[in-house]
Amino acid sequence: MTAQGTFVIVGAGLAGAKAAEGLRTEGFGGRVVLLGEEAERPYDRPPLSKDYLQAKSEKEKIYVHPEGWYDGHDVELRLDSRVVAIDRVAHQVIMLGGEAVSYDKLLLTTGSSPRQLPVRGNHLEGVLYLRGVKDCEAIKAAFATAKRVVIIGAGWIGLETAAAARAAAVDVSLLETARLPLLGVLGPEVAEIYAALHTGHGVELRMGVEVAEIIGADRQASGFVSPMAARSRPMWSWWVSASRPTPSWPRWPVWQSTTGSSSASI
Ligand SMILES: Cc1cc2nc3c(=O)[nH]c(=O)nc-3n(C[C@H](O)[C@H](O)[C@H](O)COP(=O)(O)OP(=O)(O)OC[C@H]3O[C@@H](n4cnc5c(N)ncnc54)[C@H](O)[C@@H]3O)c2cc1C
Repeated sequence: MTAQGTFVIVGAGLAGAKAAEGLRTEGFGGRVVLLGEEAERPYDRPPLSKDYLQAKSEKEKIYVHPEGWYDGHDVELRLDSRVVAIDRVAHQVIMLGGEAVSYDKLLLTTGSSPRQLPVRGNHLEGVLYLRGVKDCEAIKAAFATAKRVVIIGAGWIGLETAAAARAAAVDVSLLETARLPLLGVLGPEVAEIYAALHTGHGVELRMGVEVAEIIGADRQASGFVSPMAARSRPMWSWWVSASRPTPSWPRWPVWQSTTGSSSASI
């Protein structure tokens, strides 16, 4: 690659933005093109289940760089730009819509996306996933109207989202297949502490359960079916939260913060 070559980065998340920064910091003088399918310039996702979800911090704080940074460092940031194919022979990436962008070097920083739960009803209205800014803002809006939410998956993101819901004075049921939240990552002693903490803040922990189906009327989610509990339960909003796949039984939805994730592919 010459100093005037074109370096294309696909995926305008944290890794993509930092790669562009690294190229400029290390003195790369060629063209840098950063392509992202989202409408937002690169941002950090951790605040989406923490301060920003709880409206404790301004949106500006989530971004990796200030707005003018990309122009200021001659990085061509192109948003709403989904790459659908790579032509390695022609050295081009192909955008949705057919436009081809030529590269000398190509870096893929496409991250991951939430795993969709394979249960009936997982796409009913009111079933939300938490991965991006748009998801976070939809959940914040739901907090303003929901009386009660159901969150599936008591991992970090599920617990953080439950805390945000309680801070918004919304009732929360948190569902998890394991017998304790965070059991796999923290072990029983510390997991017990987290369980007590969240129960103390009014979160209803329903551990050792699986959701087989999300039920609803008029395409709006209104409850879930758990074969273990052998009954239906009403709900107002679903949230499916991050966790690892369960091999023996399809995992469950509610509000989805991230049911585990899978690598994004082009
Ligand atoms: C709610 C939430 C809370 C989190 N909290 C923490 C935390 O507290 N601590 C921690 O360490 N980690 C946390 N994480 C994980 C952390 O955010 C990720 O590890 C990090 O975002 C990975 O960055 P990345 O740039 O590799 O990928 P991503 O952030 O996934 O960015 C990849 C980008 O590529 C884009 N893209 C994908 N395919 C294409 C394509 N074909 N064309 C164009 N663009 C494409 C995607 O839309 C996305 O914008 C959290 C994640 C979430 C969702």
